[in-house]
Amino acid sequence: MTQFVQRDLSEEVVIQLNQMHKWYGDFHVLKDINLSVKKGERIVVCGPSGSGKSTMIRCINRLEEHQQGQIIVNGTELTSDVKNIEEVRREVGMCFQHFNLFPHLTILENLTLAPMWVRKIPKAEAEATAMHYLERVKIPDQAKKYPGQLSGGQQQRVAIARSLCMKPKIMLFDEPTSALDPEMIAEVLDVMVGLAEEGMTMICVTHEMGFARKVADRVIFMDAGQVIEENNPQDFFDNPENERTKLFLSQIL
Ligand code: ADP
Ligand code: MG
Repeated sequence: MTQFVQRDLSEEVVIQLNQMHKWYGDFHVLKDINLSVKKGERIVVCGPSGSGKSTMIRCINRLEEHQQGQIIVNGTELTSDVKNIEEVRREVGMCFQHFNLFPHLTILENLTLAPMWVRKIPKAEAEATAMHYLERVKIPDQAKKYPGQLSGGQQQRVAIARSLCMKPKIMLFDEPTSALDPEMIAEVLDVMVGLAEEGMTMICVTHEMGFARKVADRVIFMDAGQVIEENNPQDFFDNPENERTKLFLSQIL
């Protein structure tokens, strides 16, 4: 895969983490995280299991709270008294390893639920939007089925379409392909590449290094709660500097 041409990114910063720390009880899980993501920028986060990747992602839409430092999303600082957390979350789509679709609702109903009840969009409009995004992830023919009738790859594409129905400005992906059978990984990565090409701001936790090489503006390596190394994909993969990065890459490549 070839990398996209070097791009001129906007100067607008949409996610900013400053000296951010988080503890789970006594356990210091994130240590001095500094990260600045510009509009349209695509970040890939990798690192060993337990290094804090999911926790960091979850702090960005406040599924977890941090205890020290700053997290600013779309100009709003996330604090314990943040009033408009729902507004912040609406702008931030999230896609997990497990798709979390409602099993008793059809695909179409899964996609229209939040737009109708959270965004108060009329049903017909919500359905039209849902069909638009189902077409985009190439499964409009599955709209009337239930999640259990779809393959894992199809379900994950539904989960991505569901996030897109909320028209997010930022998409966070947490290992969206790691629970999938190998033959289904490409179809989900294709959807993510398409989003990247359209200019979506993305933070993707993934070990799909072909994807990272193709779309990432920056790759970030985490270990034991810290950002150990970050670089453009070419230098990151071809000339890693830190010994821990080298060890990690030797294990996954
Ligand atoms: P990664 O996504 O990189 O595998 P996580 O962010 O899931 O890492 O976890 C980082 C560390 O925090 C791990 O040691 C994990 O066991 C611990 N951890 C994760 N969630 C919780 C929690 N809710 N309570 C306590 N410890 C947790
Ligand atoms: Mg994780």
